[in-house]
Amino acid sequence: MKILSVNAGSSSLKFQMYEMPEEKVLISGVFERIGINNSLYTIKFNGEKISKNADLPSHKEAVKILVDELINYKVIHSLNEIKGIGHRIVQGADKFERSVVIDEEVTKTISELSSLAPLHNPAAVIGIKAFKEIIPEALAVAVFDTSFHQTMSEETYLYALPYNWYTDYQVRKYGAHGTSHKYVANRLSEIINKKDCKVIVCHLGNGGSITAVRNGKCVDTSMGFTPNAGIIMGTRCGDIDVSIVPYMMKKTNLTAEQLDNVINKQSGLLGISGVSSDSRDIEDGIKQGNERCILAQKMFIRKVVDYIAKYYVLLNGADAIAFTAGIGENSIDIRKEIIEKLAVLGIKLDVEKNNVRGKEQLITTADSKVPCYVIPTDEEVMIARDTYELIGK
Ligand code: ADP
Repeated sequence: MKILSVNAGSSSLKFQMYEMPEEKVLISGVFERIGINNSLYTIKFNGEKISKNADLPSHKEAVKILVDELINYKVIHSLNEIKGIGHRIVQGADKFERSVVIDEEVTKTISELSSLAPLHNPAAVIGIKAFKEIIPEALAVAVFDTSFHQTMSEETYLYALPYNWYTDYQVRKYGAHGTSHKYVANRLSEIINKKDCKVIVCHLGNGGSITAVRNGKCVDTSMGFTPNAGIIMGTRCGDIDVSIVPYMMKKTNLTAEQLDNVINKQSGLLGISGVSSDSRDIEDGIKQGNERCILAQKMFIRKVVDYIAKYYVLLNGADAIAFTAGIGENSIDIRKEIIEKLAVLGIKLDVEKNNVRGKEQLITTADSKVPCYVIPTDEEVMIARDTYELIGK
């Protein structure tokens, strides 16, 4: 059965087509600069990558081209072979505890949640509508980044703010990257061969979050009401003293919107280093002795270690820890420094094994009290799995 896993952004559309239940990727690609000039798309098929220019005034044209290309590459012969389309949705708030079949009501709710994810939810709705128009027969499924975190307890997800901010304005912790955390936590459980286990997942990408998982359920996560909470990220500040915001608004006359832009787009690794938001550039800066790059990386590592330590205590120990996403999968130095700072927990790095990028691997010694793994994340397959499961129902 053929299923599409889709991630629609405001000007982009990523897709991956699976043969299910084998979970075989048949074709994948991305449409970029939709609604802007110089639109293009890239397709990966049979180990080859091809980019083409195209006129993409809206997502609908992208979906039309996608369908033509699927037929052109003989991945499908007719549209009715596509049985399901799984859409990645960033914010489901407390409305969706699991993935659901999309109907008008669901689309409306996703749209209504746009104030909590102004960049992402409207784009997802555009994607849903475009696919519905071009491939109406396929079952559309919504897979939410927030669903996995819905198992957090009230004392965990509430902020110590006036209670009516929660009841009247939905201010609470929702978390993000849930699909990735769920995939990696499941994988860890399979690898250590223990169904009921306590694991800590470190999703360290340009955006980053850390999650404590017990028996497959999220207990706590570092992102909050928005993704700008928790660890330091590429351009986001993560946890700060919130009173800095009104203080700086008064000092600099910046508006709320401008301040929001600073804490989301000009802070984090970029803000401290003054060089880049990309950890590879920071590592290059460190090699050249750039003091601010050294500082930015130290601060990043410190914050990750803080969260691992906090969740280790929260879970009353851990059976395994995983590193995933761009930095987690690829940065040998950052993983090394994080793990070395966890020595007090009896965690011991295996320097040789840690010399790995983008590959599933144990990176601690046999006598390490907690095994640590690199696990490449796969949000797309999770979306395809949930879609396949809902088709079965
Ligand atoms: P997002 O999905 O949040 O945009 P990614 O998971 O792609 O982010 O992660 C991006 C980060 O991963 C960047 O900081 C980048 O430097 C880092 N990264 C990617 N590849 C490598 C690599 N080979 N070595 C070190 N860091 C890497």
